[in-house]
Amino acid sequence: MRILVVEDEPDLSAALSASLRREGYAVDVADDGQSALDRLAVNSYDLVTLDLNLPDIDGREICRLVRTDDRFDPATRILMLTARDDIDDRVAGLDDGADDYLVKPFALRELSARVRTLLRRETSGADAVLTVGSLQLDTARQLVSWGDDVIELTTKEFALLRYFMSHPGEVLSQERLLEHVWDEMVDPFTNTARVTVGTLRRKLAAVTGSQLIETVIGSGYRLIDDPDLVGTHDAADRGYSGDRGG
Ligand code: CA
Repeated sequence: MRILVVEDEPDLSAALSASLRREGYAVDVADDGQSALDRLAVNSYDLVTLDLNLPDIDGREICRLVRTDDRFDPATRILMLTARDDIDDRVAGLDDGADDYLVKPFALRELSARVRTLLRRETSGADAVLTVGSLQLDTARQLVSWGDDVIELTTKEFALLRYFMSHPGEVLSQERLLEHVWDEMVDPFTNTARVTVGTLRRKLAAVTGSQLIETVIGSGYRLIDDPDLVGTHDAADRGYSGDRGG
């Protein structure tokens, strides 16, 4: 998931982006309204944290533009950050198309919870845990498991698997993975997406014994979306393999 942090206070901007990166999001930063609009027009962000008081363009104006101008991705979630303690401003921001708001000062934990909720709304289900067969990814605890086995992943592999599990069964091109899982510092001609898919696959296969991410030649990669995808060795170990209706 890729996030744009729009914030003109350097300390707050650094704290927000560091916190979101620690949770595995790809984060770009804009410190004024114009550079925010420039980035929003070029990149496809899953979410924007949008400061309302910016030096050049008001955050509400950015909100309106993103929601009405077809240069921008309509699926982008907008989380307004406002120091204004005025309920009218917040209501107006929601009317302008923001999905949610936080009033400064706020705890980073609260920000991360709001971000998770908004991104879940964008994908599927209301649960903090994404599930495909026996494979589970807990977005809040940043934990991946297969039955009782925990799968150890790097932050980037975790982010990549979260994107796959948010789009199960869909063919995802390398370009789309780069756009949603990496930030703007990545070289667009790099093979980093292919390499990271490779290491993620190997780690999943080592625990699950199956190839969960398949290559679709010429198109990209697909996470197999099969509810019967279960840890067969677990079932056998526990001696209840007859439970599966067969
Ligand atoms: Ca500000």
